[in-house]
Amino acid sequence: MDLSRPLGALFVAPECAPLTKTGGLGDVCGALPPALRALGIDVRVLMPGYAEVLRAIEPRRLAVARLLGQQVRLLEAQLPNGVPLLVVDCPKLYARRGGPYLSAEGADWPDNALRFGLLCKAAALLASDASPLAWRPDVVHCNDWPAAPAAAFMRFDGAAAASLVTIHNLAFQGLFGEEWVERLGFPAHSFGIDGIEFHGRLSFLKAGLSYADAISTVSPTYAQEIQTPGFGCGLDGLLRHRANVLTGILNGIDGAVWDPRTDTNLARTYDAETLEDKAHSKAALQRAMGLPVDAAVPLLGQVGRMTAQKGADLLVESADALAAMGQVAILGTGDRALEQAFAALARRHPGRIAVRVGFDEGLAHVVEAGADIFLMPSRYEPCGLNQMYSQRYGTPPVVHATGGLADTVEDGVSGFAFRDYSAGAFLGAVGRAVRCRADARAWRAVQRAGMRRDFSWSAAARRYADLYRSLAMRARA
Ligand code: ADP
Repeated sequence: MDLSRPLGALFVAPECAPLTKTGGLGDVCGALPPALRALGIDVRVLMPGYAEVLRAIEPRRLAVARLLGQQVRLLEAQLPNGVPLLVVDCPKLYARRGGPYLSAEGADWPDNALRFGLLCKAAALLASDASPLAWRPDVVHCNDWPAAPAAAFMRFDGAAAASLVTIHNLAFQGLFGEEWVERLGFPAHSFGIDGIEFHGRLSFLKAGLSYADAISTVSPTYAQEIQTPGFGCGLDGLLRHRANVLTGILNGIDGAVWDPRTDTNLARTYDAETLEDKAHSKAALQRAMGLPVDAAVPLLGQVGRMTAQKGADLLVESADALAAMGQVAILGTGDRALEQAFAALARRHPGRIAVRVGFDEGLAHVVEAGADIFLMPSRYEPCGLNQMYSQRYGTPPVVHATGGLADTVEDGVSGFAFRDYSAGAFLGAVGRAVRCRADARAWRAVQRAGMRRDFSWSAAARRYADLYRSLAMRARA
C-alpha cells in the first residue's frame, strides 16, 4: 500500500451530531471521525442533504451526477469540528420537514429505500474509478442499515476500496419490498438467501453483512450475543458464518460535552474530589421535576427512549417498589403506550415519581449529575452511552449485564449489574445500590471508580484505525 499519503476513509453516516441526531448513532458519527483524523486518517463524512444539514453548512458544489434516475449534486463543506463533509444533495428526497427516517408525524418516509439507496450509490461511486473526485478512499465505513448496501454495491462494481459495516443496532434492518431490488440496481442473482434477501424481502442490513469485507459492532459482548438466536434478529446464522471478520469495538463518549468539571447545564460543577457539590445538581433536578428537595432520599434517575429495548416496561413493572426505595426522575420519549404508562405512574406516586416526556439535552445532563443512582435496565444494549455518562458524573448505574452495559460497568466496583431479565433481579440490584449508598465511604469508592474510567473516543479510534489499516492492506494486496 502507498504509505506516502494518509489512509483515506469515507465515513457514511445517515445522521451526524451536531447537524442531525436521533440517538447514539448520531453521537458516534459526530465523534469518531475527528478522533480518527487526530490519528492521521483522512476521514471524510458522507451524508444526505437533509434540510437541517443544508441550513448549517456553507457548501461548495463539487460535481453533479445522475444516480438511480435522480439528479444529484455532490457538495463539500466542513463539519463544525473541522472534519470534511460530503453531502449528497437531492432536495426532493432529503430536504423535508421531519427526521432522517420518519416524517414529522412519526411514520417511516415511504421512499426510504430510494433515499438511502441513493446515499449508498453515491458512496460506491466515490469509491470507484468513475468518481468525480480526485480523492479516493481506501476504506468505506458504512454505519447501520441505511449505509450498509454501499458494501454490496462496491462488491458488485469491483471497487478497489475495502468495506466495513458497523452494526449500531441489529434490530433495525431496513426491510423493503422485492420491487426495490431492480429499482436500486442490485443484480437479480443477489436476491437470495446467500445475498440480500430476508424472508422474501430486500434487507439493507443483510446486503451489507453478506458482502462487506469486515463487520463490526459497538461492544465485544454484543458481537458475541448477535451470533445467538436470542439476540440475532434472524441474522445470527449469517453472523456466525462471518464470525471470522466480525469484531466488537466499544464506543467512546464526547468528553468535552459530558464533563462534570465544565458542564454549563449544572448548578455547580464538580470533580472526584468535590463530589459534595453534586448536591446542588440533585436539588436542581428535584426542583425541575417537581419533587420535594431532600438531600437524604435516594434519587433514582433515568434518561432514554421509552421502548421495550431500553427496559421501559421493566421500569413500569418495578415502579411501585422503586417508589418505596426512593424518588424516581425519568426523562424520555418513545412508544406512546409506554409514555402514557409513565405519566400514570407519576400521577399515582406524586412527590415520589416524576416523569418528563420529551427530548431535552440540558435536562439529560442534570439527571446524570443530580441523580444518586442511574437506572439502565435495557433488555439488550449494543453499547449504550448513558451508563458511561453516569459513571463519569459519579452517578453509579444499575444495569442489565448485557452487551455494552456488561463491558462498561463493573459490578460492585463502578456500578451494579443484574443477570436475569426480571423485575426481581432488577430490584435486587437497585437494593444493593441503595444499601451501598448508605455507607458513605463505600459509596465514594464506587463513584470514584466510575469517574476514573477511560471512556474516551481516542481509545476507540485507535482500534478502528488498526482495522482500517489491515483492511486497506488486504485490499491493496
Ligand atoms: P440509543 O439506543 O437511543 O442510541 P444510547 O444510550 O446509545 O441509546 O444514546 C442515547 C443518546 O440520546 C444519549 O446521548 C442520551 O443522553 C440521548 N437521549 C435519549 N433520550 C433523550 C431525551 N429524552 N432527552 C435528552 N437526551 C436523550
